[in-house]
Parts: sequence; structure tokens; C-alpha cells
Amino acid sequence: MDRAAPRGLASPAMRTFAHPDQMRHAPRFFLMRGEVRPHYEVPERAEALLAALHRLGLAPSEPASAASRAALETVHAPDYLDFLAGAVADWNGLGGAGPEVVANVHPTPEMLAQGGRPPQGVVGRAGWYTADTACPIGPGTWEAAQAAASCALAAAAEAAQGRSAYALCRPPGHHAYAARAGGHCYLNNAALAVEALRRAGATRVATLDIDSHHGNGTQGIFWARGDVLTVSVHADPNRYYPWFVGHAEERGAGAGEGCNLNLPLPIGTGDDGWLAAIESGIAAIRGFGADALVVSLGFDASEHEPLAALRVTEDGFARAGAAIRAIGLPTAIVQEGGYNVGLIGTLLERFLTGWGGI
Ligand SMILES: [Zn+2]
Repeated sequence: MDRAAPRGLASPAMRTFAHPDQMRHAPRFFLMRGEVRPHYEVPERAEALLAALHRLGLAPSEPASAASRAALETVHAPDYLDFLAGAVADWNGLGGAGPEVVANVHPTPEMLAQGGRPPQGVVGRAGWYTADTACPIGPGTWEAAQAAASCALAAAAEAAQGRSAYALCRPPGHHAYAARAGGHCYLNNAALAVEALRRAGATRVATLDIDSHHGNGTQGIFWARGDVLTVSVHADPNRYYPWFVGHAEERGAGAGEGCNLNLPLPIGTGDDGWLAAIESGIAAIRGFGADALVVSLGFDASEHEPLAALRVTEDGFARAGAAIRAIGLPTAIVQEGGYNVGLIGTLLERFLTGWGGI
């Protein structure tokens, strides 16, 4: 398909989910290579994706229903949820605090090996419950994260009925662990969808993460689980976030041994290499015998992405949509990253149009 090809509807049966509270999270800055820069993960991303759904005739008719605390606790630790809910109020109680909770200290492996534990003060708790400076917590962050989770849960409910659905999740989720935020992520939307599908009766669930960053949070959450296959196609972590994990030799542990598949790609990989890796992931998903699929859909593998790690074209995203649809599983498609605000709407159109076979 070329760029001038007409864009038809994606699968007419596909429902989509979004929530206006996702706009309430507006992080102010991003620290990269020692420079303070404007944050990439901006509310305009959600506006661009929603506009694409309107163009496709697939816009949601009403906000997704609120996520319950019990649903969040299927993945996340209660003490971590309490931290997210109360962090801004605690921070505002500090003298001279800025408008966002940003950690400037983290426990080291040496401290943890010697009994390190969560402190009482919010400065230390911020360091305990976050992995990096890319997940500031400001006014509206907690509400936005819950709204994103609600969209993922709604898409999972559709998939549990045998229908594929798209969740416009912002902030994204795949870098969030059970008890730690990181990399623009607070609640792991994809993992919540997996747990919802398991509780709705799916025996085995697979995840396929095609964001350009390794889905380290999702890997961590299901690391020792034999009922969930986690597959991630991403740029080489030796040169790209999340830096420390995402390597091919990480295969899971215990009951989950062999149920984690990382497919790292050299920086600069284009359509052919990226789509071949996705096909390898699809083969693993077929072999696993999953009943349902959760796709972590990032657009930051685009050749026009500001982070510029991979070189995937618009056609590449359309072909990925078609290839993943061909697995034939009921699927919850969960939005992850992608920071070229002027392009991500087009990429969503192309992916969903590819999915619809047009
Ligand atoms: Zn990403």
C-alpha cells in the first residue's frame, strides 16, 4: 500500500476505548544526556490518536468505565498504588518542593542486599517506587494513569468476548513493574489486560510488544509465569532504554522458563528486519497455544520518531497490523509510546487499516 492509497475502515466490529482524564497528566520536563528538555509524553499525543480514530469512524462513544482498585491490584502492589495516589499531596507538604514528584535518589543493589526498605518520607519513597526521572508525578498523573488502565481493561473485556479492540492508553504502561514506575509509565496497562483475560477464562495469554523500547515492566511482572508468554521486539538495549534488560538470553524463570522472548534489533533496523522479528514472535505465540493476545502498540519504531532508534515506515506499520491480525486470536491492542505527535495518528490509521485487511 502506498501513501496515496485510500484509507478505509478498520474491522467494523472493532471497538475502541479512551478517557478524557488521560489529558490531565502533563509532565513538564525530560532529562536526557544531561540536558533538561520538554517532555515527549504530552497530552497532544492522545488528541492525535483520538483524531485518527474519528477519521477511521472508530471513535469511542463514551469514556471507558473506571478501573476498580481490585482490578489494579491484580498486577500492582497495594503499597505502590497508595504511593501513586498520595505522592502529590505528600510532596506539596515539603518546603520548597517543585510542582512534580521527581526522584533524585534511588536505592542501590548494595543497599537492597543489606535489607534496604521503603522509607517514610516522600523523597525516599519517590526513589523507591520509581526507576528513573522520566516518570514525574504531578497533579492529574494518578487520575490519568487510572484512566489509561480503564481503557486497557475495557479492551480486555471485549477480547474476552472474542472480539478485538483498541485501547488509547496514555500514559503508556509497559515500563511499569508491579511496584515501580519508569520510562513515562505508571500502571502497566498491558499486564492489567492480561490479568483481566486470565480471570475471564483464558487459560494462556500472550503479549506482543512492538514499541521500540523493550517491555521491561511486562517482562518483570510475568517473569516466573508459565501461563503468560511475553514477546518483545525492540531496539538493542545496549544502546537504548531500558539499558539493563531486553537481551535475548532473558527467557524467564521457574514456571515461566522459556515463556519470555526478547527480539532485540540493531539500531537503525528498517521494515524488513522489524517485520521478520515480529514474524518470529508470531511463530512463538502460535506455538504457545494462547487463547488471547495483548499487543503493546508503540509507534516509536517509526523512521520519523524523535528518538530515532529504528526506521520503520508507514507501510511497515500497516503490514504489522495485518500480520498480527492473521494470528486469529481475540486481541486487546494497548497503546504504548510514539512521540512524533504530527505522525502517530497516521501510523494508528495505517496499523488499524492493515489490521482490517484493507
Ligand atoms: Zn517506547
